[in-house]
Amino acid sequence: MAMSCDHPDLLPLEEALRRLWEALPAPAVGEVRADRDDPAADRAAMDGVALRAAEGRLPRRLLGTLFAGDDPAAFRVEPGTAVRIMTGAALPPGADAIVPVEQLAETGGRVQVQIDPEPGDHVRPRGEQARAGELLLPAGAPLTAAALGLRAQVGLPVPVPARLRVDVASTGDELVADPTPWQIRDSNGPMLATLAHALGADVRRRPSLPDEPEALARALTAPGGAPILLTSGGVSMGEHDHLPSVLAGLGARILFHRIRLKPGKPMLAALLGDRLVLGLPGNPVSAYLNALLFLPVALARLQGGAFPDPWRPGQLGERVKNKGDRPLLQPCRREAGRLHPLPSRGSGDLVTLARAEACAWIEPGGSEAGAEARWLPVL
Ligand code: AMP
Ligand code: MG
Repeated sequence: MAMSCDHPDLLPLEEALRRLWEALPAPAVGEVRADRDDPAADRAAMDGVALRAAEGRLPRRLLGTLFAGDDPAAFRVEPGTAVRIMTGAALPPGADAIVPVEQLAETGGRVQVQIDPEPGDHVRPRGEQARAGELLLPAGAPLTAAALGLRAQVGLPVPVPARLRVDVASTGDELVADPTPWQIRDSNGPMLATLAHALGADVRRRPSLPDEPEALARALTAPGGAPILLTSGGVSMGEHDHLPSVLAGLGARILFHRIRLKPGKPMLAALLGDRLVLGLPGNPVSAYLNALLFLPVALARLQGGAFPDPWRPGQLGERVKNKGDRPLLQPCRREAGRLHPLPSRGSGDLVTLARAEACAWIEPGGSEAGAEARWLPVL
């Protein structure tokens, strides 16, 4: 039997993502109702002239022009007359159709229509979209940009969209600017800060933290922290991986620790008061992938968005092995619409990740060339 150090009881990724989503408070967003008929008046849907359809192709005398926002009562369309009208302007009394500019000829203040107009042509009738009082969005609906626009349309308060603050801190005594062969530079800090910014966060880089419980506890409880803290390192099984015990000692609620994913197993999420700590693994590929997966969920939830689905459908151009019993995120190139695995040395191989365009989801047992595989773009 094949040996494996994987644990069958590790939390599946989808469950971890859901657990994080449910543990975080969404902002209270009330229902959206139409405050008036939408449109509130019959309106022109084209630039043209407003006229009485029943008069067919008879020439009409032009009374003037109505622009969007003008009071339509400035004119009254009697038999033999018409009003020049711009898209969005309300129909003047007496008119029941719009003939677009393209379908008429205008000479000396008179207009000749070249088609047989029908009542209602190019008119957006009052209430076409919604009636006053109608429910447009239920309470708690995702606060998308479109939903925000709709709130503005019906005169509801519009929350000012602000980027959520995210602190980024690396951990590890080995991180230095000018490394000896047994030390390394901090690649996770700049990488995660850039990724968090790309995902819509207002990022602040914090000083790297030593592998020392008291210093970690001090940093975690320092006043002025952002609602989300992204750390990397210190969540594995090593003797210097203090973050889980420090968080527990501070009374944090551990949402999960260790997930069924390769790379990225040591992932930890905890609530320390109302602050979310995403304890990313230290290995750069693990840290990157878990940030890419978990941070959008936290940001979306805290900002009233929808549960994100970052996956794209794709097809493998080659066979990919996965001998372990965790799903694998395999760095790939994309060529001719297909995913081609890049030989990767695993969770520490930032060289391969930086060359990859996609990470493909490979179930245990592997996948054949031509098989469907969902994937994440490498940002
Ligand atoms: P840890 O989980 O803290 O034991 O870290 C796992 C591996 O990732 C170790 O080889 C660390 O040296 C490395 N690592 C941790 N933090 C960083 C970082 N900020 N940048 C680059 N590598 C890191
Ligand atoms: Mg470490």
